[in-house]
Amino acid sequence: MRRLLLDGPGALHWDEAPDPADPAPGAALVRPVAVATCDLDVGVLQGRYPLPGPYPFGHEGVGDVVAVGEGVTAVTPGDRVVVPFQISCGACDPCRRGRTGNCAEHPPLSTYGLGTMGGTGWGGLLADAVAVPHADAMLVPLPPQIDPVTVASASDNIPDGWRAVGPQLAAEPCAEVLVVGGGGAPSIGLYAAGIAVALGAARVAYLDHGAARLEVAAALGADPVEGAPPRKAGAFPVVVDASGTEDGLRCALNSTAFDGTCTSVAVYPQDPAVPMFQMYSRCCTLHTGRAHARPAIPFVLDLVARGFDPGIVTSAVVDWDDAADALADPPLKLVVRR
Ligand SMILES: [Zn+2]
Ligand SMILES: [Zn+2]
Repeated sequence: MRRLLLDGPGALHWDEAPDPADPAPGAALVRPVAVATCDLDVGVLQGRYPLPGPYPFGHEGVGDVVAVGEGVTAVTPGDRVVVPFQISCGACDPCRRGRTGNCAEHPPLSTYGLGTMGGTGWGGLLADAVAVPHADAMLVPLPPQIDPVTVASASDNIPDGWRAVGPQLAAEPCAEVLVVGGGGAPSIGLYAAGIAVALGAARVAYLDHGAARLEVAAALGADPVEGAPPRKAGAFPVVVDASGTEDGLRCALNSTAFDGTCTSVAVYPQDPAVPMFQMYSRCCTLHTGRAHARPAIPFVLDLVARGFDPGIVTSAVVDWDDAADALADPPLKLVVRR
């Protein structure tokens, strides 16, 4: 089978690998049909987050089930499915609590398409086939009316946006939401803004300095606020930090209302200063960490079926054979399709 390997910033090439074996009991073989870049992929491709290569690339995508192993009952060959980026068994204690990103059956951070960081045995989704070890627990069937290109990021970045606003708005319906956007987790911040609008937030303020992202936020129905993050941008019960900058995080935390929640979806390789006294005074909660993608995916697909269009965030769609060229200089969100 053919697969795409990444070996350093912008260095991609197609490779011939042995065809995967027939699926083991409980497993499935999936042929990806639409694969998206994750915000982390873009950082890796641009050299901001170096990951040692070469490794099979791609961890967000939708595909078709081509074969299932003994005992698989939830999917059958021909089903179109979302493949969560994290490997999860569905049966261990963390999985049963919905913490599938910390599945106890596999080494921490086991994911597709992230090289040694995610475990090298899982392969990438920019390939003719990918093995899914716990098919019943992991795979989420895609309703036939939903275009796989639109939800190619439903493996990771769209559920990441959902977890930052969905449960929070369920606890506090119609709350006002602030998203401090930026280059840290650009698409996740935008998905969070669009999902907050779709969930009926009273107002979704999207703060950013990037003109292109502000345009996308406006198209999603958020209220674009242009500029660098101020020290404080108001008092919001639900706040998302996607900035990836110390100023952005400080603004997000200072703008979290009494008893509010700020979810930081960006990665901070260096520890930023956190305004602990302000947070203490207002009893505010800071949550950060990897999203537990699998249990969030059905919520995302339900929102899409009811009109939320994550395709607004997609910058470009290219054919499968053009993936290497398009990924050499990746836009905000690229989708590769067959
Ligand atoms: Zn990712
Ligand atoms: Zn598990």
